Amino acid sequence: AHLDRIAAVDGEVHAFLHTAPDLSLATAAAIDQRRAAGESLHPLAGVPIAIKDVIVTNDMPTTSGSRILEGWIPPYDATVMTKLRAAGLVPIGKTNMDEFAMGSSTEHSAYGPTHNPWDLERIPGGSGGGSAAAVASFEAPLALGSDTGGSIRQPAHVTGTVGVKPTYGGVSRYGAIALASSLDQIGPVSRTVLDSALLHDVIGGHDPRDSTSLTDEWPSMADAVRRADVKGLRIGVISQLDGQGFQTGVLERFREALDVLAAAGAEIVDVSLPSLEYAIAAYYLIMPAEASSNLAKFDSVRFGLRVNPPGGGTVEDVMSATREVGFGAEAKRRIILGTYALSAGYYDAYYGSAQKVRTLVQRDFEAAFGQADVLVSPTAPTTAFKLGQNTGDPMAMYLNDIATIPANLAGIPGISVPVGLAREDGLPVGIQFLAPARHDARLYNVGGALE
Ligand code: GLN
Repeated sequence: AHLDRIAAVDGEVHAFLHTAPDLSLATAAAIDQRRAAGESLHPLAGVPIAIKDVIVTNDMPTTSGSRILEGWIPPYDATVMTKLRAAGLVPIGKTNMDEFAMGSSTEHSAYGPTHNPWDLERIPGGSGGGSAAAVASFEAPLALGSDTGGSIRQPAHVTGTVGVKPTYGGVSRYGAIALASSLDQIGPVSRTVLDSALLHDVIGGHDPRDSTSLTDEWPSMADAVRRADVKGLRIGVISQLDGQGFQTGVLERFREALDVLAAAGAEIVDVSLPSLEYAIAAYYLIMPAEASSNLAKFDSVRFGLRVNPPGGGTVEDVMSATREVGFGAEAKRRIILGTYALSAGYYDAYYGSAQKVRTLVQRDFEAAFGQADVLVSPTAPTTAFKLGQNTGDPMAMYLNDIATIPANLAGIPGISVPVGLAREDGLPVGIQFLAPARHDARLYNVGGALE
């Protein structure tokens, strides 16, 4: 049914970069057989899942939205893929994304933009617009995304879906093509909070192949949803993310959701995180710095594209000819920015200062979590904007991430849950909850209470 749905709508939505119908049907048939033979399978066995193209798959191409990896079929599976396959989920394709996960609109994909199923002239968010659009348009019931500065939560906000960024280290990054290694996390996208929780339980947990993977024993996220109860829970409204710069219809739905939680027994308090003012500036130095280093491996020798300059040339000539053609404008912008921020003479002024701000943001969160069990804000300042509206203005695009990037700087988990449509434009709005590191279950509790 989902493959039929993809065939019917994906020409317009363009959520997928690659599908493999025969492979998916064969996988599903094998699971049906195991079930028929009486084997007891995971509750998600047989459920289709769309995979953001930043995650490597040994049976489908992986491009990370870039020309430089066009046609590359990785020789191995990401750990999350190994876990999904073991639980019997059925991968049905790879989803579109901003090139190397750099963006908030999926317009930086080398393969053309994805369209928001609610209004095809609008953006589906980014960088994981394909995963969110696939779920919102019923092309897939579940998807995987990656979140470096909001790429799971902001697409969820603009498409009326649920998106979760787990605690840093909670889900293995082995086999996720790195954008900014100290910020990246893989996480679930779904239509309900319970669906995300079930998927989180499958993909989470320690992985010896990821040196930043936590060794914690995790509680069941699905149980947290099923037993959702916010009585006495202190919910802190982040004052810096409530008001100025936020669309009226977004704030209206946000406040209504707070009323629902208060009626269910939660205690709503105000908290202030003064350093958030500098979070975007710090993020847009740290992220490009790490990205410039991570993207150095795309050198025309080890992966994908190779362009030979006319008349031959040195190894360096081949590398630069390949990177010139293989990377899009946003990737080049960030490589240059990051290389500059890391260069001798500028390192302390830019990268060093940004790291100090990162520490201040972390301390602000520590203080705020002394006053509240979870923090809350709208997930993004506006509903889905029009395709093309911000492509000529990188700063406007970056400012969109104000509410989502602080969680990545601090390594804490966040969830975006749909809370209805904005009055002025009829487009989806999401509410974001943040919890202290390792307390992802709190997000499923509070998200579950809203469902
Ligand atoms: N929009 C942010 C950026 O462009 C977030 C990206 C992400 O989370 N991958 O960097």
